[in-house]
Amino acid sequence: MAITTGTLYIVSAPSGAGKTSLVKALIESEAQIRVSVSHTTRAMRPGEVDGVNYHFVDHAQFNAMIERGEFLEHAQVFDNFYGTSQKWVEQTLAEGFDLILEIDWQGAQQVRKLMPQAKSIFILPPTQEALRHRLTNRGQDSGEIIERRMREAVSEMSHYVEYDYLVINDDFNHALSDLKAIFRSNQLAQAQQQQRHAGLLSELLA
Ligand code: 5GP
Repeated sequence: MAITTGTLYIVSAPSGAGKTSLVKALIESEAQIRVSVSHTTRAMRPGEVDGVNYHFVDHAQFNAMIERGEFLEHAQVFDNFYGTSQKWVEQTLAEGFDLILEIDWQGAQQVRKLMPQAKSIFILPPTQEALRHRLTNRGQDSGEIIERRMREAVSEMSHYVEYDYLVINDDFNHALSDLKAIFRSNQLAQAQQQQRHAGLLSELLA
């Protein structure tokens, strides 16, 4: 049974910084951490699964969710709309899991206002060239589309100062261990440990 409320984490990065692979590896190795599945109006990419990568919805469904107040945050990111289900976030934290929201800087700003205790992490590529290389390697996109993605990435990265932690994804395993260290140190925070070890603490002070 959960004895403590989980911590909410926001993870942002420009597209091509390796955020999704890092978060996937993190949650595979840490049973205590869950990742939120957002709703989006964007088209499904090859290999994506509805309900796993995203809940894929149309504009009417997305707008109905806004009107019913079902999103903790929502934003237009470039050409598409994305949102995080408030109910799911609250339930998962109440069950004691740490929860990751993989959202952009606009969503991060909204969540910080509502839940100032949330910890935010920004993942950066090691160089602009590495980012360009990763964006180029993704598919058969034209140079124009790649340049647009680069501009979008620079615009996203300009928000790094709003985040509590910065992780540079130079080497995958190194970045993963940096991420694990952030989560571990927060789990060891006094308030968390006090709840987790209430029995021990009262015995030690008896
Ligand atoms: P993609 O379409 O490549 O999966 O994601 C594009 C961008 O949308 C990424 O920066 C991602 O973090 C962001 N994003 C994904 N889900 C959400 C969400 O629920 N809310 C917000 N604000 N951004 C999101």
